[in-house]
Amino acid sequence: MAKLMNAKEYEESLRKLKLNVYMFGRKVENVVDDPIIRPSMNAVAATYEFAHKPEYEDIMTAKSHLTGNRINRFTHIHQNTGDLVKKSKMGRLLGSLTACCFQRCVGMDALNALSITTHAIDAKYGTGYNKRFLEYLAYVQENDLVCDGAMTDPKGDRSASPKKQFDPDLFMRVVEETRDGIVVSGAKAHQTGAVNSHEIIVMPTITMREEDRDYAISFALPSDAQGITYIMGRQSCDTRKLEGMTFDRGNMHYGGHEALVVFDRVFVPWERVFMYREYDFTTQLVENFAAYHRQSYACKVGVGDVLIGAAQTIAEYNGAEKASHVKDKIIEMNQLNETLFCGCIACAAEGHKEPSGTYQNDLLLANVHKQNITRLPYEIARLAQDIAGGLVVTCPSEADLTSPEVGKWVDKYFKTKADVPTEHRMRILRLIENITMGTAAVGYLTESMHGAGSPQAQRIMIARLVNMKQKQKVAKFLCGIDKER
Ligand code: SF4
Ligand code: FE
Repeated sequence: MAKLMNAKEYEESLRKLKLNVYMFGRKVENVVDDPIIRPSMNAVAATYEFAHKPEYEDIMTAKSHLTGNRINRFTHIHQNTGDLVKKSKMGRLLGSLTACCFQRCVGMDALNALSITTHAIDAKYGTGYNKRFLEYLAYVQENDLVCDGAMTDPKGDRSASPKKQFDPDLFMRVVEETRDGIVVSGAKAHQTGAVNSHEIIVMPTITMREEDRDYAISFALPSDAQGITYIMGRQSCDTRKLEGMTFDRGNMHYGGHEALVVFDRVFVPWERVFMYREYDFTTQLVENFAAYHRQSYACKVGVGDVLIGAAQTIAEYNGAEKASHVKDKIIEMNQLNETLFCGCIACAAEGHKEPSGTYQNDLLLANVHKQNITRLPYEIARLAQDIAGGLVVTCPSEADLTSPEVGKWVDKYFKTKADVPTEHRMRILRLIENITMGTAAVGYLTESMHGAGSPQAQRIMIARLVNMKQKQKVAKFLCGIDKER
């Protein structure tokens, strides 16, 4: 019987890992309790916590197609378009409850993409990847694990292929083959939730050619496998989390993180290898994963929900909520946010069944959705800052508000209404700052831009996937250039 872990059990499971983590140039001995990393652990823990709430059960859990057991949806292989739609709704739900990146989507997207590609490789070459993969999937589902889906290589000189890089490790590669498995070296950059993960699933980052065969590899490992090192990324305002629980941190509960993950001659047993030199399947794996992950950016709709709620709140605190331009800006924020929701629902509803049985979302619509995500959150954030006013960046600290010397002045001069505590006004401003400029801006803005592929990656896919010939054909028929359509 599958185990649906709760948040506490998840936290305890992380304590058992022996991760090699560095931050600010020092080894982090206690990752789970580190004040900078901890909020990101809380956000992943929310994916466990809400799976136990009856009101969210339908969205947060699913029936495993392998065992029939109830599992967390983050470990599920989509069996129909309804599953894909629920995946989008789950992303929005969790974003709207945490206002940050909850990190668990990349693993779900990697599992689904691999379920398709391992099946396709076997069909062409008679290999046994799919069976191996399904055994691994059952292990992940039964133990309710978090997987880091690791795709992005450092990539070095963008004009050179993996084989032609001045340093051969700039793309993940096989350095040795043994009877029991392979030895790999390289790195994966910007890895979301890496140190909150039990497993790491590695995939190639671009289409590989024959000369790049040694780079056409996919595999899974425990996150604390020997030879793996994590180097935490910095975030704007991250050290505010070292100030204890002051409200200057903005989001008092949750956060996200990214890390550079280095593989220094790491051994991978054959039973965890899902692609080995089949370079002709790298495009499919990358494109399927990318489409799934671009759909996952439903999360930003949820973060947008919180930002809109914060903007409305500060407008009310300021006594500005009845001004027609403020009302209109709130409407605009909602319209933009719901437009984003349309995209992630549409690409899910238009999904199709792959030969493996897995449902894949619509690639064109997923790319269009992600392209919108690279833009609209910036506009929503701009409107939130407009409504918030300049105090969002000039506000004194909590320590000034509580200071015996100057606290009375901060309280007096930043008070807007007799019944609105100055502290409340400062708290909501800090949340807006957090989402649009602070640690959560990593997730809401820059990750919206570059996560799941930078904007140009989607434009290339859009150009490739639209049926231009058909559009031209009808245009030429209707204006009389052609006799048939
Ligand atoms: Fe999931 Fe969104 Fe975080 Fe990506 S940015 S892992 S899609 S929550
Ligand atoms: Fe991402």
